[in-house]
Amino acid sequence: MKIGTKLIHNGNEIDKHTGALSIPIYQVSTFHQSDIDNPGEFNYSRSENPTRKALEETIAKLEGGFRGFAFSSGMAATSSVLSIFSSGDHIVVCEDVYGGTHRITSKFFSRFAVEVTFVNAGDLENIRKNIKENTKAIFLESPSNPLLKITDIRGAVKIAKEHGLLTIIDNTFMSPYLQRPIELGIDIVIHSATKFLGGHSDVVGGLVVVKSEDIAEKVYFVQNGFGAILGPQDSWLLLRGIKTLKVRMDYQQQNALQLAQWLEEQKGVEEVFYPGLENHPGKKLHFSQADGAGAVLSFKTTDLQTAKNFMKKVSIAAVAVSLGGVETIVSYPVQMSHAAIPRAERERLGITDTLIRVSLGLEDIEDLIEDFGKALL
Ligand SMILES: *Cc1c(COP(=O)(O)O)cnc(C)c1O
Repeated sequence: MKIGTKLIHNGNEIDKHTGALSIPIYQVSTFHQSDIDNPGEFNYSRSENPTRKALEETIAKLEGGFRGFAFSSGMAATSSVLSIFSSGDHIVVCEDVYGGTHRITSKFFSRFAVEVTFVNAGDLENIRKNIKENTKAIFLESPSNPLLKITDIRGAVKIAKEHGLLTIIDNTFMSPYLQRPIELGIDIVIHSATKFLGGHSDVVGGLVVVKSEDIAEKVYFVQNGFGAILGPQDSWLLLRGIKTLKVRMDYQQQNALQLAQWLEEQKGVEEVFYPGLENHPGKKLHFSQADGAGAVLSFKTTDLQTAKNFMKKVSIAAVAVSLGGVETIVSYPVQMSHAAIPRAERERLGITDTLIRVSLGLEDIEDLIEDFGKALL
């Protein structure tokens, strides 16, 4: 079965009890145990909830993993995954990860002596040479945020296997429709489901899929013990969003390519970053591990004033943090998603104050181009 069909038919399309074509929202905290010697499948909603379970099974199927977990946000998912490590452990993290991931690894987990080294994972040698005796994992994001750099996922997995390390990837930008890292050898996949999976800018959630039972036990221990779970109503919204992922993503990435090509021709634009463009240095690698370029791009304007004017004048697109919704969203990474990264570090990474990130929505591209054209004047 292909992924587009799996989005609809994954074992959770019909409620087993009633035949309903939508899994009900089990808005409940606890479950009656009619026989305490033989407890039922569910006992308390922090541990497991039927609506959340349907979502967890769905994402596990879509990613091709052993088990899925739903958390209250993408950051709760990332933090819970990182909580399977212990003080004294070291993790190699790709340097242009999501700003929030940068923040919790460098400023939160460091307090518990989980050590991290940020590396430019575009060159796998940087991963290899930063592996130490206490290294336990490699944390990747590809395409990266906000510069859409590509990491060789299979190559990173190979290095990890040679050293007995776990591999973790944030797959938010791609979604399982476009990239399935577990098929490439990755152990743990993380999503901010707030983005493409939810798809409508109306829910915050995080999902994790693990490859094997032993990792699943560790993540479940944290999910149940730490308790950063997703509620039933939000789980249902994600189940609903996932059903239309294919049509949204297909259309949105078509819009992204057209806008990227148009932006390249504009006077006020210095550089466009989108893995679907012929001149993107990672295009070939990206398409060897993913089925599409996605619907997020970024571009640099020629100067700060043009960027500021653009952000003020753009009118159809929303100016906001976040991405992956039905509406086009433009964001200004230095003051939004990547504000948590110190300025000097940001500039070194190429996240300058002329950089603008765009998440394409479902609008007609002609209207978006007209809007962007006016805002760039
Ligand atoms: C938004 C985002 C996150 C964080 O997710 P939240 O749901 O906002 O907590 C993590 N990684 C990436 C790539 C994101 O875009």
